[in-house]
Parts: sequence; structure tokens; C-alpha cells
Amino acid sequence: MENELHEECGVFGVFNVEDAANITYYGLHTLQHRGQEGCGIVAADGNNFSNHKGEGLVTEIFNEKNLVSLPGRCAIGHVRYSTSGGGGIKNVQPFVFRHHTGTFALAHNGNLVNSRELSKYLEDRGSLFQSTSDSEILAHLIKKEKDEDARLYNIISALNMIEGAFAFLILTANRLYVARDKYGLRPVSIGKLNGGFVVSSETSALDTVGATFVCDVNPGEIITLSNAGITSTDYSKFKHNYLCAMEYIYFSRPDSDLEGCNVHAFRKESGKLLFEESPADADIVIGVPDSSLSAAIGYAEASGYPYELGLVKNKYIGRTFIQPSQTMREKGVRMKLSAVRSIVNGKRVVLIDDSLVRGTTSKRIVSLLKEAGARQVHVRIASPPITNPCFYGVDTSTYDELMSAHKNVEQVCELIDADSLAFLSQKALFRAGNRTELCLACFNGKYPTALYHSLTEANKDGKF
Ligand code: AMP
Ligand code: SF4
Repeated sequence: MENELHEECGVFGVFNVEDAANITYYGLHTLQHRGQEGCGIVAADGNNFSNHKGEGLVTEIFNEKNLVSLPGRCAIGHVRYSTSGGGGIKNVQPFVFRHHTGTFALAHNGNLVNSRELSKYLEDRGSLFQSTSDSEILAHLIKKEKDEDARLYNIISALNMIEGAFAFLILTANRLYVARDKYGLRPVSIGKLNGGFVVSSETSALDTVGATFVCDVNPGEIITLSNAGITSTDYSKFKHNYLCAMEYIYFSRPDSDLEGCNVHAFRKESGKLLFEESPADADIVIGVPDSSLSAAIGYAEASGYPYELGLVKNKYIGRTFIQPSQTMREKGVRMKLSAVRSIVNGKRVVLIDDSLVRGTTSKRIVSLLKEAGARQVHVRIASPPITNPCFYGVDTSTYDELMSAHKNVEQVCELIDADSLAFLSQKALFRAGNRTELCLACFNGKYPTALYHSLTEANKDGKF
């Protein structure tokens, strides 16, 4: 959709399980919501690495024929939204690096904040980059070693040079390494399947392929999967649990568990707390499909107002769907969401949305509901106002576009034409997840990592 914001990426891997590429295909399909721009799979059959990737959805890029061309018991895969480095096939992951000391493949989710500095450092030492992806930077930092034990130490020293948010999968002929940033910004979990292992950005994809959850990778930890089983090494002593709050609020599937807390349960609790903090006199509660439904259920339960299906989403609007032209829009053609007139007509509605970024969604929906006869629309947002850009791989857009960066709650309320507006507090997010640490930088500007001048400047220019 035009003007729609996007989420970051998803990674999935299989170690020592028959039909690894097929399993990865199913895993990536479950993670499709994390990125629709491109996807790829690299499979390893001993020293023989094969890969297939393309720009498009998982079902568009893969078929039975090309999956057969990816033999082996190990594979890694990626779904991508271009978080850094722009679009184009050359930036679609995973990447394969061939070297006389051994081939390896790499996939990552997240964003490095010092990639410009590191690529300059590497170029000054003779590295040539094929793409503008952060993965390639890590690959260049890992000095290639034949001996797998030495390789682990090279990976550790490379991880200590990069700064930012990441979950990295590194597949060699004999091992799969899984690393998570020391701040704990991006999630990644490990499961067991048929004597081997499965790795995923979200636990829902472990369930899809029939794997049993083993553990979350801890911040600053590198897990090595090999024929000897699973081993854990800390690459950093500095560790925090600043998991991205937007993973709970918006990105992850409701059937995923993040660090032991189910995403639906988190959202439902946040809806309950939203009612406690900002009650509204109303007749019904409705949520913006699909990511706000859990919070709307929580708000409805806490308030005692009925939860209703006041908005219906058309699930079949794909990338190739022709958007209504300006003239068709003026005629009232709205394809993505419809208000259910018989439900909202004459009612005082509480409208729950998970977040407000540019404010376009809320504005559109308030007007849809009013056109369908809603008497009042009280907007409640199940997260705090977004006032700062994200540098960790989430496209919350540039500073200039963030509505709450420039307007207070009353002004936003007026702009979206709501009868009242309230946001959830930061405190409530900690309570909903029953935790003491979370990244809330886009809400409060407290970035857990160092930031680099080139990065913040690029955001101001809208280039980030
Ligand atoms: P906006 O219309 O810009 O205020 O966007 C708010 C809507 O976008 C909410 O309904 C969210 O569900 C959704 N959203 C929030 N963050 C993101 C993101 N990073 N990518 C895509 N959609 C998002
Ligand atoms: Fe997530 Fe916001 Fe932190 Fe980015 S700044 S990692 S979107 S909580």
C-alpha cells in the first residue's frame, strides 16, 4: 500500500534434519509478515552450498522444482524488508561467501548502527563489497579459517566490532552458528526436530514445522549447532534485555512467545491497562485488524463493553493489486478496510490501534467509522506516542514524518478527527510483559546503543 510502513526481517535455519530446504520454506512462510520484499534459502550438503532467492513473497519465489535443487540436511533462509542498503536482488539474503578455506552462508535480522564506519574501515583495507547489506560487513570481518574452532573465535571477535541490533545465522559445512546482539534487541529462538535443530526469529515458526522449543538465544550469546549437539558461548560480558517493544506491540505473530511471554497475552494485558489508564464512555470496542485485535479484546474485557467486529479487512490485497486511483478514491473506493455499518451505526465506539506512527491509519479509520454512522469515536492507542526514529531495523520512518514528534495529544486528536485520544504509558508496557527492561527508544529517545553521527544525519534527510 502506498505510504504504508514496514517491518524488519525474519530468519530461519535448520541443522541436521532431512529436507532442510523444505522445512525452511515452511518456516519462512510463517515469518512472511516480517518482510515481503524478498526471500532466499541457502542449503548445505556437506561442502556443497546451493541457493535460490528472489524479490517477492515466499510462495512466489519457491516451488517444488527449485526446492529440489537445494539438497542437504542444513539450510538457512531469510525474508526481507529493505531495512538498510535499499532494495534490489543483490541485497536479498542469505549471502554465500566462497573462500578456499571453506564456504559459509550468512543471514541476519536487524540493523547495525556502525555499518558505515565499518565498511569504510574494511574498504581502506582492501575489501570490495558486492552489496550494501550489514551481513556482508560481518562476513568481511570474519577472517576465514579452516579450523572450525578457530572460526568460532573469529566470529566472536567480529561480533565484538559490530554495534546495533541483530540476530545472525552463519552456516558452514559442519555447523550453524546463531548470534544475538548483546542488547537483546532482536529475538531468535532454537527448537529441536527429529534429532536436529531449527532456529527462528519467532517461536510460531518452530510450531509450524513441528519443532519443540529449546531456548531463546540470550543477549550476547552465540549458540553453535553441530553433530556434537548444542553449545553456548558468551561473546560479550555486557548484556541487557532491551528487547524491541515493537516486537510485542506490532511485529510478531500473536502465537509467538518472546522471552517467555506470549505476544497475544502481552497485547491483551496492554489493552486491559489501556482501559485502566484511559477509560472512555462507549457502547462497543473495536480493533484495527489484525495486529490490534488482542489489545481490543483486553480493553473490552476490562471495560465490560462488548468487543465487536466493526472493521473488516480484505486479506487478498497483494503486491500486484491495482490501488484505486485518485478519482476512484474520491468515489469512495476503499479496498483494504471496510466499516460494518450495521454494527457501528449510532454507536459510541472505542477504536483500539496498536500504534500511531504517521497518523494516516487512525485518521482514515475514524472517518470510515463516522461515515458508517458511528456517533462518537474514541481512539485508544496500545503504545506510547512515537517521537523518535528507530535505528535498529524497524522502519518507523523519519523524524519529520512522525506525527507525535511534532504534535501533542490534543493536536493529534484534532488532526485525526477523533472525539478523544489517549496513548498507553511506557510503564504499562513493562507491566504487560512483566519485565524490567525493554527498548523504548522510539517512544522516549533513550537509545540503548551508541549512535553514530552519519546515521542520525541520514535520518534527518529522510535517507535512512
Ligand atoms: P500510521 O498510519 O503511520 O499511523 O501507522 C500506524 C499503523 O501502522 C498501525 O495500525 C500499526 O498497526 C501499523 N504499524 C506500526 N508500526 C509499523 C511498522 N514499522 N511497519 C508497518 N506498519 C506499522
Ligand atoms: Fe523497537 Fe522502537 Fe527500539 Fe526500534 S527504537 S528497536 S522499533 S522499540
